[in-house]
Amino acid sequence: MGLGGAPCTYCGCVAETMLHVMRDCPMVMPIWLKVVHISVRSVFFSSTAEQWIKFNLGNDVGWRFRGSDGEWLGRFTKHIGYGTTYVAELWGVLEGLRQARRLNFNKVELCVDSMVVVKHITSKEKSSLAGRSHVEHIRRLMNLEWEVVVHHSY
Ligand SMILES: [Zn+2]
Repeated sequence: MGLGGAPCTYCGCVAETMLHVMRDCPMVMPIWLKVVHISVRSVFFSSTAEQWIKFNLGNDVGWRFRGSDGEWLGRFTKHIGYGTTYVAELWGVLEGLRQARRLNFNKVELCVDSMVVVKHITSKEKSSLAGRSHVEHIRRLMNLEWEVVVHHSY
């Protein structure tokens, strides 16, 4: 393997890029197909080199709390491993709501930057299989004795 534009020494079919050697070469792809869950394969196999590296390093989700007067109350992050952006967004909402419950908030304004997530957590529709358990947890949390208002924001 001599990265740098020459044909792959294993398959000989394309230029030997980092992504070819690590992910796309027919010699390594069967290994990935055994370990990468089907729900994330399209992202896994279609991402750029930078996206792929970030994907494999896993996702951190974060959320911020402000008081009713806009005062800063804290920022939290949690490492959630690898997965789709959609599931990462759901993790962020779920962990944010859990943290708000631990802090005994009785009214929460939840700002989510994913329109799909907003749609799924505020409707009764079934969400995609990949995030269904997260959506159900979030809906149960939202239905507890407190007020949760959901907004879509960028
Ligand atoms: Zn190859």
